[in-house]
Amino acid sequence: MSTRLTTEQIERYSRQIMVPDLGGKGQIHLRQASVLVIGAGGLGSPAAFYLAAAGVGTLGIVDPDRVELSNLQRQILHATADIGRQKVESAKAKLRDLNPDVEVKTYPVRFDDDNAAEIAAGYKFIVDGSDNFATKFLLNDVAVKLGIAFSHAGIVRLQGQTMTVLPHRSACYRCLFQSPPPPEEILNCQQSGVLGAVAGTLGTIQATEAVKFFAGFEEGLLTGRLLTYDAKSMKFHSVEIARDPRCSACGETQAAGLGQPTSEPRKEL
Ligand SMILES: [Zn+2]
Repeated sequence: MSTRLTTEQIERYSRQIMVPDLGGKGQIHLRQASVLVIGAGGLGSPAAFYLAAAGVGTLGIVDPDRVELSNLQRQILHATADIGRQKVESAKAKLRDLNPDVEVKTYPVRFDDDNAAEIAAGYKFIVDGSDNFATKFLLNDVAVKLGIAFSHAGIVRLQGQTMTVLPHRSACYRCLFQSPPPPEEILNCQQSGVLGAVAGTLGTIQATEAVKFFAGFEEGLLTGRLLTYDAKSMKFHSVEIARDPRCSACGETQAAGLGQPTSEPRKEL
């Protein structure tokens, strides 16, 4: 990947190059960056859109599903004419239209135990836009094992939460929640609903974190903190999260077997 920007690239990215914390150097880092987005849905759509717009060199998109009518209220990468199309293909077309500079790799598969490490290897940052706990825990464990930074997020109804993880340096998702909650505690979009703009807010924060990661904003990343958003009261809160030395993913002495879930109800995409 070139370490120089063309005249056209300088014009395309001029408004962010002008931001002193980014500059031309930050833009070149974005050109050399690679981000894997798990899920081309409510979170993955805004995240991938902004990352493509910002000039991230390589974007990987993982999603096994096809576009459905009920997706369009929040999954803004897809349009009415895309109903029935593979989400990764629909996403790739929109991202390439927006910015032909970006290489888009597509994985029309479920991110699972058999393929997760192979897909994730080589990416420098992962955006968790998944819609289920199994994927969130798997992604955490694979990212921690491979040492890949990632942004976790979850949304339901009018609420969202997000946290950035630098493996072995900041708390991971398992430091926060030891294991998936029992099914009866799970709220998800399908059963509980979600406002599209809430997904947009959280996905956009995830894209911001990825850009900051590549531009070297290490101190200002959302690490060791869980940011919660309540759209109903329009309030953000952040809670400090320490690393758990007994964490089964990133702990110093990895516990045998998984701990019990805490009693707090869990939220899902
Ligand atoms: Zn951990």
